[in-house]
Amino acid sequence: MVDSWQTCPSCKSKNVITRGKRFYFLLFFGLGGVLMWIGLMIYWPLLIAGFIVIIISMFSFMMPRVNRCRDCGHKWKP
Ligand SMILES: [Zn+2]
Repeated sequence: MVDSWQTCPSCKSKNVITRGKRFYFLLFFGLGGVLMWIGLMIYWPLLIAGFIVIIISMFSFMMPRVNRCRDCGHKWKP
C-alpha cells in the first residue's frame, strides 16, 4: 500500500508513510460492517450505528491525503 516515496521536509528522513483515502475507507467500512453484524446478532440499535459509519466511509473519499514521518512525527500534505 505504498503510493509514493517522499522525503520528510523537516528531518530529511525517507521513513515516510502516506495515509490515503483507501486507508480511511477500509477503516470505517470494516468498523461499520462489524457493528452491523453485531446489530443483526445481538443488539439491533447497532445496525443503525453501523449504517451511519458506512455512510461516513463513503465521505472519507473526500479526505485529503497526508504524509507522516515516522522519525520526527512531522505531518504535511504531499
Ligand atoms: Zn521527519
